[in-house]
Amino acid sequence: MSSSPAPHNDRTDAAAFPPGEGSPLQSPLRFLPGVGSARAALLEKLDLRTVDDVLWRLPRDVLDLTQVKSPVDLVEGELQTVRGVVAESDSRETRRGTLTAALLDCGDDFVRALWFNAPWMRQKMQPGSRWLFSGKPKKKDGRWEFSHPRLQQLGEEDDDAHGGVVTRYGLTEGLRLHEMKRVVHAALEQGGEYVSDPLPAPFASANSLIALTTAVRQVHEPRSMAEYESARRRLLFDDLLEFQVGVALRRRLWGRRSNPPVLPVTAKIDARIRRLFPFPFTNGQNAAIRDIITDLQSGRAMHRLLQADVGAGKTVVAIYAMLVAIAAQHQAVLMAPTELLAMQHWRTIDGFLEGSRVRRALLTGSLTDSKRRDVRERLAAGELDLVIGTQAVIQEGVNFAKLGVAVIDEQHKFGVAQRSRFAGQSSMAPHVLVMTATPIPRSLCLTQFGDLDLTSVTDLPPGRQKIVTSRVTAPTSRRKAWEFIRGRLQQGRQLYVVCPLIEGDEATGRAGAAHVFEQLQQSELAGVRLGLVHGQLDRDDRDERMEQFRHGELQGIVATTVIEVGVDVPNATLMVVLDAERFGLSQLHQLRGRIGRGSHQGYCFLFSESNAPDAVARLSALEATSSGFEIAEKDFELRGPGDVLGTRQHGELPLRSADLVRDRDLLEETRTAAMQLVESGEIDTAEFAPLKLIVLDRFAELMDLPRTG
Ligand code: ADP
Ligand code: MG
Repeated sequence: MSSSPAPHNDRTDAAAFPPGEGSPLQSPLRFLPGVGSARAALLEKLDLRTVDDVLWRLPRDVLDLTQVKSPVDLVEGELQTVRGVVAESDSRETRRGTLTAALLDCGDDFVRALWFNAPWMRQKMQPGSRWLFSGKPKKKDGRWEFSHPRLQQLGEEDDDAHGGVVTRYGLTEGLRLHEMKRVVHAALEQGGEYVSDPLPAPFASANSLIALTTAVRQVHEPRSMAEYESARRRLLFDDLLEFQVGVALRRRLWGRRSNPPVLPVTAKIDARIRRLFPFPFTNGQNAAIRDIITDLQSGRAMHRLLQADVGAGKTVVAIYAMLVAIAAQHQAVLMAPTELLAMQHWRTIDGFLEGSRVRRALLTGSLTDSKRRDVRERLAAGELDLVIGTQAVIQEGVNFAKLGVAVIDEQHKFGVAQRSRFAGQSSMAPHVLVMTATPIPRSLCLTQFGDLDLTSVTDLPPGRQKIVTSRVTAPTSRRKAWEFIRGRLQQGRQLYVVCPLIEGDEATGRAGAAHVFEQLQQSELAGVRLGLVHGQLDRDDRDERMEQFRHGELQGIVATTVIEVGVDVPNATLMVVLDAERFGLSQLHQLRGRIGRGSHQGYCFLFSESNAPDAVARLSALEATSSGFEIAEKDFELRGPGDVLGTRQHGELPLRSADLVRDRDLLEETRTAAMQLVESGEIDTAEFAPLKLIVLDRFAELMDLPRTG
């Protein structure tokens, strides 16, 4: 990858220092009173380095003790809360079952709590433990009684003599709550007054936001839940707004920077392209193509994300877009994340283009130097129309004479910077179509891909059958599964066996693909022609085996997730995933997509011995649904963004306080506000200069935004 900055990205020296550098907000935590380097190291484990970091770290939760009543003030039948220490507890058998009772010392009086048939409560109600009881009390024999109250256990440190709202923070081993609170307090003392509000007052009030300086204080030391909630909203809003303004600026830049070619699609061109395919397009493909045609003729550069379920036929849409460019005497490029995928696309596209005059080449890292040089020269001279490759296509030295359309497959493996690299490739910015392997949850679309227009294809080519998916746990079921598979293999179908090849496992041989391969050949799949494919294998060997598999010389492939994306062998209809609980939902769905590609019924067996609730939840979700859109949302809820995208690096969003799952609504709200600020040009006015500075400071690099203009 070229490391020289693209021309649009030069930064003036004046802007090279982030605003506020040297301010008390940027001060390292070890300089705070009472912190020191040992505690600073603990705080660093929580990603807290500066005063500012602490101020923006929201409490993990809060306890509302403002409404806590003293027993003498309780009234019958209303929902109320008391706080106290368990004085004694006991259980006894009655005619109605076990009755557990606890006596809570609330300071000036006692209350009683009762539970029927919940003997474990005895264990929880240890004398000396501190609790909040909430419920509707009744007076019995002169004492207030709570039946099955809602409970919240308090630590010693939560014991706040004057009630109020108690904040609690995420902690780490060696750092206790009261210590964390001292740090927060010190940070407020030290930095609180230096927090400046980047938002103009009218904008803040139009969005029901309190002042930032107030919010920073109130979120950590609220006097009421209302104070806490409004403060929290303000911090989350700013966090997400800044992110979304960055995304909106990025989006504007796509439009501005480019002087894209206008690529017409006549009826004749359309018919000529469609004739290349042996099938009619699906409604979803047609709709996507309509979006793309509009973009290509708009005079604005296309920046579109095409999301579709596995097997929906994105490649066809990509080919269409590229051929439109070529028909208009422009070049087209398709970039895939791996060699395997690039090869596969090459094969597919080469097949469709058989007999056409499109001048095409494959460009990957494994070409010989002289071959690579040849492709580059022909590209630069305009003697090639179409190139398919890996990241080699955006490497330094690759220049297109007249690039019209660039397609990026499996975008989640690439970042924004790589996307924008295409723009620097050619005097004209090309139209860019980005494709994802599986659907992406909406909140990630709004962030990671928020600068792109979105097209979703929700239907599949006709004749596809739902893949029968079963979670296999018991040894007997496993034997039956293998038996079933042998039967299908005899009928001519083909099989993938997927192993989670985890570093170290391979060394010990445990559950590693190589080991499994040996074992299967000796037992369950004796006599079956099997091949082994994994990432550490020599590329030639790997390609050769995939080739043998494609031609049916091999009946089965034992593999790691190298087969995860894109591999297309329609006769392969059987899949076994070993240790399936080790994979994420979206990843499993993607894997399963490998066997839903032909007309025969597909069967996917998820082998797993795990009883962990989240593993069971994930695997059951796969049994139940075949919609990648549903699965993406579910996965996101269960595991968060990093894992959904499969790579922590690109998945981690640099948000300070917000959580994409929890704060979805606010995400939508801030997106609307950010788009409006940028589209109206308000973001470029003096009033919003402080906001823009923060945005650039946080996101210029990540989003490849210029510091000026
Ligand atoms: P993905 O969206 O997962 O990349 P592909 O583009 O690889 O899907 O397409 C999956 C399979 O469906 C391929 O074998 C392709 O030839 C086939 N296909 C694509 N579109 C159609 C269609 N309209 N009718 C029938 N088969 C199609
Ligand atoms: Mg594909």
